[in-house]
Amino acid sequence: MVYLIKHVISHLESIAPPVYQENYDNSGLITGDRDAEVSGILCSLDVTEAVVAEAIAKGCNLIVAHHPIVFKGLKTLTGKNYVERTVILAIKNDIAIYAIHTNLDAVYQGVNQKIAQKIGLQQTRILAPKKGILTKLTTFIPKENADEVLNALYQAGAGTIGEYAHCSFQIQGKGTFLPLDGADPHLGVRGEAASVDEVRVELMFPEYLRTGIIRALKEAHPYEEVAYYLQSLENEHQEVGSGMVGMLPEPMDGKSFLLHLKAAMGLEILKHTAILDKKVQRIAICGGAGIFLLGSAMKTGADVFITADIKYHEFFDADQKLLLVDIGHYESEIYTKELLKDLLSQKFSNIATYLTNLVTNPISYL
Ligand SMILES: [Zn+2]
Repeated sequence: MVYLIKHVISHLESIAPPVYQENYDNSGLITGDRDAEVSGILCSLDVTEAVVAEAIAKGCNLIVAHHPIVFKGLKTLTGKNYVERTVILAIKNDIAIYAIHTNLDAVYQGVNQKIAQKIGLQQTRILAPKKGILTKLTTFIPKENADEVLNALYQAGAGTIGEYAHCSFQIQGKGTFLPLDGADPHLGVRGEAASVDEVRVELMFPEYLRTGIIRALKEAHPYEEVAYYLQSLENEHQEVGSGMVGMLPEPMDGKSFLLHLKAAMGLEILKHTAILDKKVQRIAICGGAGIFLLGSAMKTGADVFITADIKYHEFFDADQKLLLVDIGHYESEIYTKELLKDLLSQKFSNIATYLTNLVTNPISYL
């Protein structure tokens, strides 16, 4: 079986749809040809010239990285900085670079779930679920076609809520219509009013799947004119959003937890606010720069909030309400490359997939 770069991309995008990236982000294919055959994949947190050289040495023509090497528009490509040099090296050697960044942060099985697993958190859920990304479809189907149309809608991604698929609500009633002169009706005859036993079906789907779902509806539905309506929902999407919160199996004192955190994440150093005189069990996390979630962490009753890139004055904002911990940006996200390798190896078992051997952290400690 030959796999092209676009096959790898569509698998990754089925897990972390690009539509979930933040508007400042640049996730997606940054260099390379979607139609090229994949010779091997190198998974990394960052892309640098050394990472591109490693990909070449390992025979990989695809680098899947968390951080996009290109964030802002490039006006020239002369090699005057590391971004340009990395891109030039990749292009000269036909290396595709694909970034899966804030969209991988935003999905339940993404960056934060990996951290939660390392720390041993249970009952995990998204800390700040995203609103306004779900849509409701209501449609009307002749009774005998209801199952067939519903199955087509499920196949296209409608009707999934958390761990439940095929979620719909159905009620039976009468549909009426009068086929006009130009009509070619599935039931009834032109010029005669008809009434049909129909099922009214309601189901939800993530908005980004809209085009495929409406196409599936129209293809599976027997009517020439399919009656349906769509409504945007205010509901939160429980599997999409920022950060994660979960429980330790047993309460721990703050100091023991910090030592556990150091060992579990392989940390050389961490920064934290004063250890409070109470046990900790509910732990909020956000890989990378996540201090914007401090309010959500407090609101959810977290005893600890772990993130990175916290500034001096932001540590004060913990205000003795929780234990605020900065474990470093690279350190918080380093296991993302393992996550990527696992996601790719499960699907493409015959493509050689590697973890970078390089430490791309630009920060050293003394
Ligand atoms: Zn990051």
